[in-house]
Amino acid sequence: MEKAIEGIQVDKCSGCGKRFISPAYVCAACGSEEFAPDVISGEGKIYSHTTIRIAPEAFQAEAPYPMAIIELSHDLRLTARMQIEEGETMEIGKPVVCVGKNEAGYWFGLT
Ligand SMILES: [Zn+2]
Repeated sequence: MEKAIEGIQVDKCSGCGKRFISPAYVCAACGSEEFAPDVISGEGKIYSHTTIRIAPEAFQAEAPYPMAIIELSHDLRLTARMQIEEGETMEIGKPVVCVGKNEAGYWFGLT
């Protein structure tokens, strides 16, 4: 099934244009404190992945659950929950897309 791809909200530095996963306060590249909201592609690939067995209190009922560090465009990385379907496996380098966002953060699925 084709997955609807969500964009990722970022803050773009008004000084140098560098993008940060929201929220950003001070640009690590140029020191500017001014940012404009921007949205980048929700397409990325798995940089690293793990299964959370000992979860923070708020998510204990959901453990164990898969998480991954996603490599996005603009040299950005994001830690996200993974929606893994029956028969799918996470592998470093595999393409993923953002499929949603909730209070836990972004959710990604394999393409
Ligand atoms: Zn900057």
